[in-house]
Amino acid sequence: MTSPVDLGIGPRVIPRAEHSISRADISRNAVKVLYRLKDAGFQACIVGGGVRDLLLGRIPKDFDVATDASPEQVRELFGNCQLIGRRFRLAHVRFRDEIIEVATFRGVGGEDLESEDRHVLDESGRIIKDNAYGSIEEDAWRRDFTINALYYNIADFSIMDYVDGMADIAARRLRLIGDPETRFREDPVRMVRAARLAAKLDLEIDAATAAAIPKLAPLLDAVPSARLFDEFLKVFETGHALESFRRLQAHGLFEHLFPATGAWLAADDAAGRRRAFIEQALANTDSRVAAGMPVTPMFLFGVFLWGPVTERARELAAEGLAEMPALVQAGFEVTTAQVRRVALPKRFSIPMREMFHLQPRFGRRQGRRVQVTLQHRRFRAAFDLYLLRDVLGEADPAAIRFWTDIQNVGGPAASGHEPAAPEGAAEGDAEASGNGEGPPPRRRRRRSRSRGRSGRRAPEPAPAT
Ligand code: ATP
Ligand code: MG
Repeated sequence: MTSPVDLGIGPRVIPRAEHSISRADISRNAVKVLYRLKDAGFQACIVGGGVRDLLLGRIPKDFDVATDASPEQVRELFGNCQLIGRRFRLAHVRFRDEIIEVATFRGVGGEDLESEDRHVLDESGRIIKDNAYGSIEEDAWRRDFTINALYYNIADFSIMDYVDGMADIAARRLRLIGDPETRFREDPVRMVRAARLAAKLDLEIDAATAAAIPKLAPLLDAVPSARLFDEFLKVFETGHALESFRRLQAHGLFEHLFPATGAWLAADDAAGRRRAFIEQALANTDSRVAAGMPVTPMFLFGVFLWGPVTERARELAAEGLAEMPALVQAGFEVTTAQVRRVALPKRFSIPMREMFHLQPRFGRRQGRRVQVTLQHRRFRAAFDLYLLRDVLGEADPAAIRFWTDIQNVGGPAASGHEPAAPEGAAEGDAEASGNGEGPPPRRRRRRSRSRGRSGRRAPEPAPAT
């Protein structure tokens, strides 16, 4: 492997006849954008997940364009174009059903390239500023993994490979470009991306890349919590949550994202019920995504925090607090500590805590409270959590039967008042979009990047939990 200092060697060019990507695999709109750029005299390529997924035989979820045209030049070429981003300007070219993201090639900070306004690192080696445009070669070097740095060139339909990415595609290997420790220090989120992409694409993480993770995992603690929430959504809400969780745990990363949950899992019982509880929830979420059903981050967050919340509630109860105040206080404390690590917007954390607060109600099956509970807007999500708690030995089979039957005999929850959703996911989304705080992230992403070509939508609904 060469280093950024070797800039100028040029790419390995894989001609059209020697790779599997055809224009027909790429979204029509992306192809249009590529041709308009090319016809105006610019370089124009598809790069990143789109090329990678096609080469691995998957259907990409979107196609990102990279060019040597500046954002302003891109805007002049497209009427339907908007420039976004402060730290790094991107062009969004809007089509009826899709937005194509067009990025100008970015520079890389090699030892000899560093200058104050190009590529600034903090004491731990983290990039805190990176705003220089560059050549396609520099653009390749500043990307994270070799398989993410392959360029499909519309000029001759070749693939340009500066970083030996094709060899890693063939070996199904995820390898950081350059020195792993340096690259993880620059941006610790790359460690989470490694676990996520390996899980999603069923890849092996290269030995040298994996070896750098244990020592550097603590750097995640200093990553801004909002960025980690964005990453949380990609890891846990896009259909490969279970495998991602296992990889995050295997590499010692999960405990840096969810420290209280990590500690709770580390104290699992001999039967492994805590792990089973978490993994069941993740598997359910993956089934829902596969079936095209809505998911909400508040549910999995709630599942992750439930153990720590109950432990804290027990401590508070031992100090003399009654059951409900102890639960409320514990939910507040555990959530407050967690959102410093991975931000959970209030539109999700509030319903999540309501879901906690409903748990004791499932043990009471008499009187007026039954109707009140059934009509609660978090009933579905809360009952799904209660069903999962069976794995922990915390649910009463008679209560499960009671609350299941009462829904089936036409209680408010079954009357179409709320969508029947095994995870209560729809409520979270509906709430989020209905309270004036803007659409939930999943939907926002869907709007900003086409999901139309996603291969994830399966016709069958997920089995109800
Ligand atoms: P997915 O298919 O899940 O979207 P992706 O690789 O396309 O995976 P994006 O977050 O969409 O992920 O990033 C697009 C591209 O930008 C990547 O393929 C990679 O080349 C580059 N990239 C993304 N994040 C980083 C990072 N933290 N450091 C360096 N390059 C990155
Ligand atoms: Mg992508």
